[in-house]
Amino acid sequence: MKKLSIRDLDLEGKRVFIRVDFNVPLNKDGGIQNDTRIRLSLPTIQYALSRGAKVILASHLGRPGGKTNLRMSLRPVSIAIKSAIECPVKMAESCIGSEVVSQSRLMKRGEVLLLENLRFHPGEEANEIGFAQQLANLCDLYVNDAFGTAHRAHASTTGIIPFVGQGAVGFLMEKELLNLGYAITNPKRPYVAILGGSKISGKIEIIERLIELVDVILIGGGMAYTFLKAKGLEVGRSLVESDKITFARNLLKKSGEQGTLMVLPVDHLVVENLKPGARNRSTLVEQTPEEWIGVDIGPSTCKNFEQKISSAKTIFWNGPLGIFEIVDFSQGTLNIAKAVSESQAMTIVGGGDSIAALSKAGVTEKISHISTGGGASLEFLSGKKLPGLDALSSK
Ligand code: ADP
Ligand code: MG
Repeated sequence: MKKLSIRDLDLEGKRVFIRVDFNVPLNKDGGIQNDTRIRLSLPTIQYALSRGAKVILASHLGRPGGKTNLRMSLRPVSIAIKSAIECPVKMAESCIGSEVVSQSRLMKRGEVLLLENLRFHPGEEANEIGFAQQLANLCDLYVNDAFGTAHRAHASTTGIIPFVGQGAVGFLMEKELLNLGYAITNPKRPYVAILGGSKISGKIEIIERLIELVDVILIGGGMAYTFLKAKGLEVGRSLVESDKITFARNLLKKSGEQGTLMVLPVDHLVVENLKPGARNRSTLVEQTPEEWIGVDIGPSTCKNFEQKISSAKTIFWNGPLGIFEIVDFSQGTLNIAKAVSESQAMTIVGGGDSIAALSKAGVTEKISHISTGGGASLEFLSGKKLPGLDALSSK
């Protein structure tokens, strides 16, 4: 079902509410640590401005929990936008209320008004009708370009739409749907999924779904240990979710029945403890010393993974393969990032830490599609409906 696009709207002279994802990581001093999300939102903003719109930008930042918390103000973002586009950018004190409404009415074509953090109000996450209606009072048209929050039914992603009367997708959202849609509907094969990260528990549905969707699943990172344990191996003090062992065993069985190859680590880097300077060594997973902790995939595992990656035609990667934040434990993740970037396949990477790993490996530019939505991309790929997408109008 095709969604209404920003291209289909007559933007001239209209107040256009664009729900963007400006949930950027901040430094301790309050500066923006990484502006990727802002940069990725620019095409939609610039398009609207070029068509004579009055652009109202709305986003959340962090988790202020329904209360004003100036450490999570969007003010630094307004400065970043001002330097990125050559148009007047005003910062509103709030996202609702009579003052913002009159500010929106005084706007001229080609101007930008950035609303203050939506989550300073409990009505946003509670999807309160009154709050949604107040947001709708600010605008004539609605565009959603925040793929990262599309899996949440909040006032700014769903509640507002009936009050505005329509909802269209922006360019960034459109790109996500196109690329992730490709990975669901007609991926070129072999299709290889690489899964890592700390835990299985948050990713249960996606793993189940991937077994049906892909040809090969490479499993590394913390989540591998629950699978290894399910196969009867002792893994020392490595991360194991004991309440998920049966589940992991069933997944291994299911993959066998489906003919989907699940590849687990055969060797890994283990450390005596997680303190800096602790002793470490590379071992086979069967020979994990009691009490030691697995922190990265080993060289033979990397080779096995790289071989599958090099022959893939589609690759989806989520989750680092080790505790890559620590340089000594990052080699496996960096090797795999490099292998993915060098492959000829259509490559899709999602998840905040995985994207950070790409950037550490210096290969971000070589990935076909980097999904801005961690949770949203996983839910979308696992076949779930995204409320923020569902609520938008059809063409
Ligand atoms: P993403 O943000 O890409 O979705 P996750 O948040 O699921 O990824 O997982 C990232 C985290 O997993 C990192 O903080 C990393 O340190 C952790 N991790 C990876 N391998 C291990 C391991 N062997 N033991 C413990 N934690 C791990
Ligand atoms: Mg993460």
